[in-house]
Amino acid sequence: QTRVDRIEALVRTVPDFPRPGIVFRDITPLMADPVGLGETIDELVDRIPRPVDVVAGVDSRGFLFGAPIAVRLGIGFVPIRKPGKLPAPVYEESFDLEYGSSSLSIHQDALEPGQRVLLIDDLLATGGTLGAAARLVLREGAVLAHTETVLELKDLGGREHLAAQGVDSFSSLL
Ligand code: 5GP
Repeated sequence: QTRVDRIEALVRTVPDFPRPGIVFRDITPLMADPVGLGETIDELVDRIPRPVDVVAGVDSRGFLFGAPIAVRLGIGFVPIRKPGKLPAPVYEESFDLEYGSSSLSIHQDALEPGQRVLLIDDLLATGGTLGAAARLVLREGAVLAHTETVLELKDLGGREHLAAQGVDSFSSLL
């Protein structure tokens, strides 16, 4: 069994969550496993193209992977948060959900122009979330060096959605 096989085996599939017909990929068994979380961080760190100057993680499961990656790379971590959470002035970007819309925000002073940003979330589905996160990084004048997730739901066109927004370096562990 390879490291990636062991990681895959720790992700649980839960049918009909949060609504009937949706198949949810649940990372809580992976987080709870004493070896699995460490191996996931090791695998992500091995794959990430260098150089990067700072990690930006998406609220909230992107924080679970983004912060340990930042520690391992010896660089800082910046949160991209759901609305109303960040205390100082923010940029905000909205994106479409299946029903309605949502938004993400980032502190205006979180990134410096030209900084090479590694964007992290747990899962890519339609790409709405990471697309908005990518726009926030670009509004800071920073450079989106690479976007990485643990999981990708490949049938939902997320990768194409991101590519159409100029996110040209994306990969997913699973
Ligand atoms: P998207 O915006 O790409 O359609 O959805 C991705 C976002 O929704 C991510 O922030 C992710 O955390 C969350 N998400 C959607 N479906 C799942 C899922 O099956 N499992 C997990 N862990 N997160 C999901």
